[in-house]
Amino acid sequence: MKYRSWFQCIDPGCGETYDIFDVVYRCRKCGELLEVTHDEARLGRTSGEAWKKVFDQRIHSTTWPYGSGVWCRKEMVLPQLSDENVVSMFEGGSNLFWAERFGREIGVPDLWVKQCGNSHTGSFKDLGMTVLVSVVKEMRAQGQNIPAVACASTGDTSAALAAYCAAADIPAVVLLPRNKVSLAQLVQPISNGAIVLSLDTDFDGCMRTVQELTERENIYLANSMNSLRIEGQKTVGMEICQQFDWEVPDTIIIPGGNLGNVSALGKGFLLMERLGMISRRPRIVVAQAEHANPLYLAYKKGFREFEPVQAKTTLASAIQIGNPVSYKKAVRTLQEFEGIVEQASEEELADASAQADRTGMFNCPHTGVALAVMLKLLARGDIKRDERVVVISTAHGLKFADQKAAYHQRQIAGIASRHANQPIELPNDVGAVRDALLRRIDALAPKGAERAS
Ligand SMILES: *Cc1c(COP(=O)(O)O)cnc(C)c1O
Ligand SMILES: [Zn+2]
Repeated sequence: MKYRSWFQCIDPGCGETYDIFDVVYRCRKCGELLEVTHDEARLGRTSGEAWKKVFDQRIHSTTWPYGSGVWCRKEMVLPQLSDENVVSMFEGGSNLFWAERFGREIGVPDLWVKQCGNSHTGSFKDLGMTVLVSVVKEMRAQGQNIPAVACASTGDTSAALAAYCAAADIPAVVLLPRNKVSLAQLVQPISNGAIVLSLDTDFDGCMRTVQELTERENIYLANSMNSLRIEGQKTVGMEICQQFDWEVPDTIIIPGGNLGNVSALGKGFLLMERLGMISRRPRIVVAQAEHANPLYLAYKKGFREFEPVQAKTTLASAIQIGNPVSYKKAVRTLQEFEGIVEQASEEELADASAQADRTGMFNCPHTGVALAVMLKLLARGDIKRDERVVVISTAHGLKFADQKAAYHQRQIAGIASRHANQPIELPNDVGAVRDALLRRIDALAPKGAERAS
């Protein structure tokens, strides 16, 4: 008997199922979200210990496609896919960075940052896109008429879609809110040859348009409502455990926008638990920007009601989302993982990002949101100082060079730039350079230390 997976409606009262190679994003019976479900009885015929050995052997190997942090877990991600249709760029396997100095400075010595931005297109979106584009490749190979794949994006989804589609020679269409993504994020799909549509709206507006478009034409929808992406993204928690020699951290903090990623994180942990690979759960914290905080507001009301918000401009542009698609899945995850939701203001996220950069990181603003939230939870005792804490860093800081430069130049309105560091402009004169330099070095030296003359 082979490993199997299928789409299943998340409403337990409905439970309708669909073939994994069906073009279906929501339940046709009740309109609810779908999720990929696996034949766990079959997966369970291998012990948890044995699965861990399999993953340890495969990751980073050159045996196609198992070297990838996603595809080393192929039986638990998308078993029916044929290996030759896997479109992989060696995603996953990203650095789990021990933030030793930052952790020491803030009083959490066991602090780690999962650098998901150290990836082919610079964000965790690669983890999900490899699965989605692979399925499209397989469907096209089977003769299904799918002329293109489309997404609405706050920047990183379109970069990932464009790259994976380009590698697989599948046309990609991306809808971006004009002037709301960084130059680096815009130039990625352009370079990869995608059809880039820059629309006069925000992300939520692009999302409505792409949904209508993909309902009417046979263009395939790549947004995270498409639960194939969640299957790839769920491997992040598996990989974190693997990197800790299969120990589960105490707390994981993750920035949330459309809330697919937090749902994915939880899904991976629950699967590992059911398969006997781990025996406890981490606490999961979702970090939102105060300017786009619908989950935070719902959390404050005990999730009794949900109101979409009009998201305001935020430096954390990838999570500037007022009406998250995966709200229900995220609430389910938070209820299963003693969840906490906290928010960060623009100044808090920019300062936390810059403060951590001073200790050797190079954070994107979304990671800044997560770091700022961690500092708040520490201050009020929701995170204890002896905990092992993992912050999920979702994108590479280089995608946000413009706003990081503006921070250091103190050019962001309403932000004092507490940790600004500016270049010293000088004539090219050894004496002047020496004086300026020694003044700065003296200022850095710990009190009482003498400079050798
Ligand atoms: C997409 C994205 C997020 C948000 O993930 P969701 O699944 O939408 O909650 C956070 N950070 C970055 C950098 C992203 O690209
Ligand atoms: Zn249903």
